[in-house]
Amino acid sequence: DFTQGVALYLDDITVSFDGFRALNKLSLAINVGELRCIIGPNGAGKTTMMDVITGKTRPDAGKASFGSTIDLLRLRENEIAQIGIGRKFQKPTVYEQLSVFENLELALKADRRARASLFHRLSGEQLDRIGEILQLIHLKGEAQRTAGLLSHGQKQWLEIGMLLMQDPKLLLLDEPVAGMTDEETERTAELFLSLEGQHSLVVVEHDMKFVDQLTEGRKKVTVLHEGSVLAEGRLAEVQANEKVVEVYLGR
Ligand code: ADP
Repeated sequence: DFTQGVALYLDDITVSFDGFRALNKLSLAINVGELRCIIGPNGAGKTTMMDVITGKTRPDAGKASFGSTIDLLRLRENEIAQIGIGRKFQKPTVYEQLSVFENLELALKADRRARASLFHRLSGEQLDRIGEILQLIHLKGEAQRTAGLLSHGQKQWLEIGMLLMQDPKLLLLDEPVAGMTDEETERTAELFLSLEGQHSLVVVEHDMKFVDQLTEGRKKVTVLHEGSVLAEGRLAEVQANEKVVEVYLGR
């Protein structure tokens, strides 16, 4: 049920690599439509957490559910991608030789649920959807441009647009504004804020200015450290938290 309640629930997740605990009884709940920023020093377990959610890494213990009913730990990586969890890695991956429009078209046709073969023409509805996404990702005027010629930030937006073509319920984003200009960062915040409510978003981020823009002084931020949650609360609160200050300054 994705009209309300919990979109993602991790309960006591533990992941060990040769005896080293990358995640140590990690518990986390993300609500439907929530935008949650996850911060934490290098090695805190942020990437491993994303790997568990997407089925890339199997935990040794714990539970993970998508919505209140789907047991993520029973699904394979390719199945998880199809139930509405989209993941964006740090580096942009777009088809450089194709136009912006063609990239979005391909993303749409790659989605099994769209029932559109590569050789079919797009329906009016599908064209409208691409138009909407182009608007959202600030690339309306660049639809015919070759993707390889876009700026770094524009490529990141295009890849987010490609994920959106598959209408994910949950989007996982790994440092989406790394390498972006200040203006691109601000427009990315604008984009994410417009997705909030319609989609649940988990954003792993080091750029505190961006986290501040996304959380608007009120949303909850989660701080990971040594594989579990060290603190949760508003950005200003967690930044003032002694334990949090210590783990950041201790490095
Ligand atoms: P973060 O993304 O917060 O920087 P990671 O999830 O990448 O943290 O890593 C958490 C810890 O687990 C780190 O100490 C890292 O070295 C270790 N780790 C991650 N993946 C592996 C792996 N495949 N094999 C061994 N150790 C790993």
